[in-house]
Amino acid sequence: MPSELLLELSTGCYVELHVIPLRDHCNCLTGHLLVLRDVTQRQQADLELRQVNERLQAQLCEINALQTQLREQAIRDALTGLFNRRYFEETLPRDLARAARAAYPVAVILMDIDFFKQVNDTYGHQGGDCVLQAFGRLLRAHSRRGDIACRYGGEEFVLLLPAITLKDVCQRAEQLRRSFQAMRVQFGAATIRTTLSLGVGLFPEHGDTSQSLMQVVDQALYVAKAAGRNRVKCVETVV
Ligand code: GH3
Ligand code: MG
Ligand code: MG
Repeated sequence: MPSELLLELSTGCYVELHVIPLRDHCNCLTGHLLVLRDVTQRQQADLELRQVNERLQAQLCEINALQTQLREQAIRDALTGLFNRRYFEETLPRDLARAARAAYPVAVILMDIDFFKQVNDTYGHQGGDCVLQAFGRLLRAHSRRGDIACRYGGEEFVLLLPAITLKDVCQRAEQLRRSFQAMRVQFGAATIRTTLSLGVGLFPEHGDTSQSLMQVVDQALYVAKAAGRNRVKCVETVV
């Protein structure tokens, strides 16, 4: 059997060495035929191909990471890191359809910070942003696995809670209200405190489509505002 060897010469050239045994008619080894072939160009082409491949792989990884980042940015609110309204509006019909198939309820808590304009007027837009970020953290801390916390608009937030009873969601809303009332947001030398109004509704009991559910929950929030703010109103108690 001929054997092959790739040799790198001190000149930087590559040669391929083929060793072929030579035998006489009795099959006795009589010598070797050595064939040397200059394969420098092939080696260089191989090396370049490997380098191009590595660069492409690195670029592909970068593109994948950028795509993930873009996808995240498209569904996240930049200030709070919560999901944005676009994501909420996409996910709500999907989640309600899934809940309908599996026959479990889904609750929605719609929240609006009270007199938030005054916070901006008193502490400036940055002070207001600080409160929004603090509320984002609070909402995340109050979310269970499977809950979806979103910034719905300026100082409005929404929490989607699958598979929960009306009693439990009302309790959760009340806890949120109390925690926010107790929260002190440090902004420079100032301490900002404010309150939250909340509307609560349940699918399919109070609305059997995304639109009808959001409409009645919004009404409940409106009633909470009109009743003096800093309170939870459930759809059931306002319709
Ligand atoms: P209410 O109790 O009735 O909800 O009163 P409110 O002052 O909270 O409501 P209003 O709708 O009058 O004011 C909301 C304010 O929220 C007005 C707007 O400038 C402010 N806002 C909206 N988005 C942002 C934001 O991203 N950052 C800051 N700092 N303020 C915002
Ligand atoms: Mg508002
Ligand atoms: Mg408000």
